[in-house]
Amino acid sequence: MIQELSNNEIFSNEYRNIAPKAGDLAAVFEKNGRNLLMRLDAEGAMSLPEAVLFADYWFDPEDTEADKKAAEKGGRLVYLFSIGTTCYYSFVYTDGPAPDFSFTGMEFLPFSFESKPLPKNIYFGAETAFQLSSWYNGNRHCGRCGGHMSVHPKMRCVRCTSCGNMDFPRVMPAVTIAVENGDKLLMIRYRPREEDGYAGTSLIAGFIEVGETIEDAVRREVMEEAGLKVSNIRYYKSQPWGFASNLMIGVICDLDGSDKIAVHDTNEVAEAVWIPRDEIQVYDNGVSLTFEMIAKYKNGEL
Ligand SMILES: [Zn+2]
Repeated sequence: MIQELSNNEIFSNEYRNIAPKAGDLAAVFEKNGRNLLMRLDAEGAMSLPEAVLFADYWFDPEDTEADKKAAEKGGRLVYLFSIGTTCYYSFVYTDGPAPDFSFTGMEFLPFSFESKPLPKNIYFGAETAFQLSSWYNGNRHCGRCGGHMSVHPKMRCVRCTSCGNMDFPRVMPAVTIAVENGDKLLMIRYRPREEDGYAGTSLIAGFIEVGETIEDAVRREVMEEAGLKVSNIRYYKSQPWGFASNLMIGVICDLDGSDKIAVHDTNEVAEAVWIPRDEIQVYDNGVSLTFEMIAKYKNGEL
């Protein structure tokens, strides 16, 4: 899975107030967009810019003039986390025009594992950076009084300079569900998604809603998307999924009662079907928890 890093490199997400050094990377996303500043070489490989390229945009949050300096520059570089010895930074924009990043010789490009992959550890770094970058850039103003939110010098949070309100990154739990019925697995085909046209066959999945347990969410999602009852709900593994600020929770459960499918949520789901184990198509790209669960079921290992 995407969070299983190669070379035994360790992901460390504690906040540190440190300036970029040689070898550190910057995952800079387009202002109000999802595209990532990258270099695409002739062979189709992508790379991220070194963070030191943006050294002029790094302002120590302890500096009382940091916000003013950032406003004059159109934004600031912020520390995110480290993977191995490489520190990752991202860019927090201000309300003015976005800076011109053409000095980097790179351009904002669409970013997905399937298209032009970055090396796996860097891909995980960029995906996780997207979550934090989206949070920083989506919290430039206080949700309570509308004041200016300043990057906190000691914690992963932003603090309102008017009322003192503090905001912390949020992780949204979601479930991906393998419903077993003997030698058949419940799979669904989604309607094409607006943002990327994805319409693949997959497991039932959805967000855990307010007031629910994991088990409540599993029972509700399976009922909404396939009209089926389930029991014997058990945990498999979990996965951080920065693109949607998710924590994906993989669960396995058994059909309980009738196997007659009735899709209630027809806006999202085109079709739900029981697929016999030997007819399951496996596409495990080493990234997704869901694809790993499908492959494990196929091999009788789930
Ligand atoms: Zn405020």
